[in-house]
Amino acid sequence: DGSVQRWSAGSFDKLLGGLLADGFDETSCHSRYQSAMYRHNPGKKPSPYLVSKLRQQEALQRRCGPGTVAYSTALEQLRSGKSDIGSPDCKYLVSISYSGLGNRILAAAAAFMYALLTDRVFLVDPSNEMGELFCEPFPGTTWLLPPGFPLTSYTNFSIDTAESYGNMLKNKVLRNDVVGDVPVFAYIHLNHDATQDDKFFYCDEDQRLLRNVPWLVMRTDNYIVPGMLLDAGFQEEFARLFPEPDTVFHHLGRYLFHPSNHVWGLITRYYDAYLAAAQRRVGIQVRVFGEQPDSPALLEQITKCTQSHGVLPELLLSGTDDPVMPVGRRRHSTAVLVTSLKSWYSEKLKSMYWEQAVATGEAVSVHQPSHEEFQQFGAKSHDTKAWAEIYLLGLTDTLVTTAWSTFGYVAQGLGGLRPLVLYRPENDSVVPDPPCGRDVSMDPCFHAPPFYDCRLKRGADTGKIVPRVKHCIDMSWGLKLV
Ligand code: GDP
Repeated sequence: DGSVQRWSAGSFDKLLGGLLADGFDETSCHSRYQSAMYRHNPGKKPSPYLVSKLRQQEALQRRCGPGTVAYSTALEQLRSGKSDIGSPDCKYLVSISYSGLGNRILAAAAAFMYALLTDRVFLVDPSNEMGELFCEPFPGTTWLLPPGFPLTSYTNFSIDTAESYGNMLKNKVLRNDVVGDVPVFAYIHLNHDATQDDKFFYCDEDQRLLRNVPWLVMRTDNYIVPGMLLDAGFQEEFARLFPEPDTVFHHLGRYLFHPSNHVWGLITRYYDAYLAAAQRRVGIQVRVFGEQPDSPALLEQITKCTQSHGVLPELLLSGTDDPVMPVGRRRHSTAVLVTSLKSWYSEKLKSMYWEQAVATGEAVSVHQPSHEEFQQFGAKSHDTKAWAEIYLLGLTDTLVTTAWSTFGYVAQGLGGLRPLVLYRPENDSVVPDPPCGRDVSMDPCFHAPPFYDCRLKRGADTGKIVPRVKHCIDMSWGLKLV
């Protein structure tokens, strides 16, 4: 097996160009240093500046994180409500990510980006299984918020929370135009339902104010990174960190999200059994939303898309025999990994490529790890399978994803792939024309962006403010880095 040879020869780059710190205990997290061996596409190289920034962040996490004197002092400050005690060089960002797994991963990566840009210690809310699905990303400390956090109801913070930045602005508890006392904490509500007051977060003058708040608690289900780059404040640092702007999630995702050993078992057993031997791997993500019934139109959309872009071979008419193969020559093989809540689509594809011959003569095998039927929230085995499938999609050579789905965005980012995106049909029984298109970049789409120009202080098309922030092809109002 080629991949095992590569492993033992040690010829692959297990630290991903310095992205990962060396020296972790390997048995506690096999995926961390083994992932490179499963990737045919090694991905982009991180900039030396990003690498050094990550090492600095790790040092900050160790110096100020849970269990340190600085952390106890900062908690004391939060309990007392006074922002003037405490260690001024340790500020914190607590990230609450929730909803489906794809949303949670994107939200946490975006919050981490904000922590990097603002030199904050990054802690994640441990509910939602963040500790079970992923390994620890920081050496010698923890990214999980320990129990006993003084803001006891933080997991219920919502659009109505009085201490949200938006509500404090609206109620004039805080003003972004005068210098005054800052509170010891602010809740940053950047959910899909955030108001324009909440979204002032994306403006420089508001960032100047937030910079001095020791504790921020952020809730989002969105990939907010493109929003953070609309205003000038972060742009210079961002450009140094990411000379290739569309690689933000690619690098931060590979840095943060290492499947825990149980999930890594699911991934590697599946990969080795069904995908490793093929000459070519194709991933097709069929996201079925809500109660959508098995749809012949969607199946047609998938076959049209994949065949017209040369992702899968065209079928010959029924009754046509296989093309003649020279004696002794093996068929080329393509393994298709389908992920979906439903099994119908992959069953149909599998029959198609068995019952009919293809002009290229290649062997097409179709595999689907699970079909969970319905989306569930907070079910552990459901989430471990979802994580394994997202990861497996990212190990393919060619990827087809469904519009609007964060599940697909995570796969494309981790894999470093610009997918073909199946456009969202206006009507479930009609195949969109064209059925799909090549995404403009591998970075995820931000679904709930601001529609406001901070400098002009008025509504604006935020896809036209900065050259590197454009609208997404799958959601016309969404924003993404290109
Ligand atoms: P999104 O809703 O498509 O943006 O993706 P999310 O990952 O945020 O939420 C969808 C959730 O539904 C996933 O986290 C899974 O729990 C479940 N799900 C959706 N599609 C699949 C699939 O193909 N395989 C598995 N195992 N679960 C899926």
